[in-house]
Amino acid sequence: MDSWLLEFREIAKRLHDEGKLGMFSSSNKHAAYKQVDDEKVHVRYICPCGHKEEIYAILKSPYQVKCSACKALVWKSKLRKKRGPKAKA
Ligand SMILES: [Zn+2]
Repeated sequence: MDSWLLEFREIAKRLHDEGKLGMFSSSNKHAAYKQVDDEKVHVRYICPCGHKEEIYAILKSPYQVKCSACKALVWKSKLRKKRGPKAKA
């Protein structure tokens, strides 16, 4: 994972220890976190096209971030549904 994205993992770890982490998500293309008392989400992404960007904005859940350079979808969060143990392939 890119060290630029790993920085967010460190921040999220610290916030978690302080009980302030509202959300954290990461993949090999993005890292994102939200503080409990903040309505905005911090997002960093590295698109396969090479574009890197940091965003700090109000995002609606499920979160969806597209590359501002090539419009590819770099992150889409999953909605958590509580409907029992239905396995999906
Ligand atoms: Zn792109």
